[in-house]
Amino acid sequence: MPSVVSPQDRLQDDAPAAQLRRAEPCLWLNPHRQPIPAARQAVAGDHISLDDTEKAAARFARFAPLLEGVFPELQATGGVIESPLLPASSLRAAAGLAAGQGALWIKADHRLPVAGSIKARGGIHEVLELAERLALQHGLLTPRSGADDYRALANPAARAVFARYTVAVGSTGNLGLSIGVAASALGFRAVVHMSADAKEWKKQRLRQRGVQVVEHAGDYEGAVAAGRAQAAQDPFSHFVDDERSLSLLLGYSAAALHLRQQLQDAGIAVDAQHPLFVYLPCGVGGAPAGITFGLRQALGA
Ligand SMILES: *Cc1c(COP(=O)(O)O)cnc(C)c1O
Repeated sequence: MPSVVSPQDRLQDDAPAAQLRRAEPCLWLNPHRQPIPAARQAVAGDHISLDDTEKAAARFARFAPLLEGVFPELQATGGVIESPLLPASSLRAAAGLAAGQGALWIKADHRLPVAGSIKARGGIHEVLELAERLALQHGLLTPRSGADDYRALANPAARAVFARYTVAVGSTGNLGLSIGVAASALGFRAVVHMSADAKEWKKQRLRQRGVQVVEHAGDYEGAVAAGRAQAAQDPFSHFVDDERSLSLLLGYSAAALHLRQQLQDAGIAVDAQHPLFVYLPCGVGGAPAGITFGLRQALGA
């Protein structure tokens, strides 16, 4: 196909966008990328750092005993939602790696329990953060005590509080699955706005878990906009916003701390002489942004 470059593209020297339109691989390096110390203060006006990634990991740890009780599949790991790091040497040739060109691994997030996708990280984190905030507001947890047993949040009194709130999200599938399953397991009302291309089995699984599925004729963006508008009318509704949520991003970023440990356990050094290359599938961008943010903070530039 001949390449079509609009005058506007030429004006903006928008080469990567033109390459994308021609379906060619391209590399875009963010000219606004900050060095690590400054990046800690540069995300959308919010000041985030490795500290926030560690707080997200600590939140998952506080909730682990509760999650173990709520999801039988987490009994084997004591409520920890994590994935193995698998050697992928048989993919070396397909990836174009010659002998001596480093090792290839798969961080097997497709196997993450509960949600079955990377959305278990960001999506479940946001539901837990909301549950924790409401539990503190309603006196179900003690502020700053550090001694609370989060299993108490499965008690009828706590579930009655959560049942007054709706967690809503727009999704083509996996985000809705992780948010819907986690929210309804904790006792929230859960509403997932799905676009026409969402898979039928995902809708069915959500309905089985007591989640309300609202089907929208249009695409993903339409489902998100409709869900966002509906939730904005209701003070007891929390809309998980894939395009703007800091809680999602930080939940994803916590993967970096676990991966750092797995690399260490596998005897893999990461430093200036042995750089880590991470290949991530990207949709809206929250998952890869969070994970790369976390890795850069945890492992260095
Ligand atoms: C959501 C998702 C991604 C991409 O995450 P974004 O935050 O949308 O960029 C990649 N792989 C799978 C399986 C996903 O569900």
